[in-house]
Amino acid sequence: MKILIDNGHGENTPGKRSPKWTDGTQLFEWKYTREIAKRVETELRKQGIDVERIVKENTDITLSERCKRANAIAAKVGVKNCLLVSIHNNASTGRARGWEIHTYIGKSKSDEYATIFWNEAKTILPMGTKMRGDWTDGDADWDSNFAILRDTKCAAVLTENLFMDNPEDCRYLLSNDGKEAITKIHVQSILKIAGK
Ligand SMILES: [Zn+2]
Repeated sequence: MKILIDNGHGENTPGKRSPKWTDGTQLFEWKYTREIAKRVETELRKQGIDVERIVKENTDITLSERCKRANAIAAKVGVKNCLLVSIHNNASTGRARGWEIHTYIGKSKSDEYATIFWNEAKTILPMGTKMRGDWTDGDADWDSNFAILRDTKCAAVLTENLFMDNPEDCRYLLSNDGKEAITKIHVQSILKIAGK
């Protein structure tokens, strides 16, 4: 199985960052998700998984270009042998907290994969971390009309890894424990999906 990693946004994307906290720290989503994507890639390579980051640039690559890159690789290896994972941090009004996973609308293989991610996240994140599920269709993932989920021909999931604009979530994200946990959620889930 081929794993495609999409790290969200670029250094030139407006917004997509936490406030600057009183201790001087700040999370930039493009930078954070690239760091996690690289950690995930390194770990999976060590385990013999065929993994590739579809955005190696630091700039914002358009969604249509990212889908094009993913679809070109999927066409080569076979769409059924491919999973795209898009890594993000959430933002709202500063009060919301927690972890989410999204798939495209309707039922597909992506929903099965999302459930594996959900269960890993629930186990790996510290006790008491808010798990934000949408159970209206019987599983925890959110059905979302996102281009990266809709326009990719292979299975695709998008993780929203806690809220960067919430001080507690953000402090955890930037900590070493936080980075290790977010990495581990992706690595362990993908290992399960790839059947290792
Ligand atoms: Zn994002």
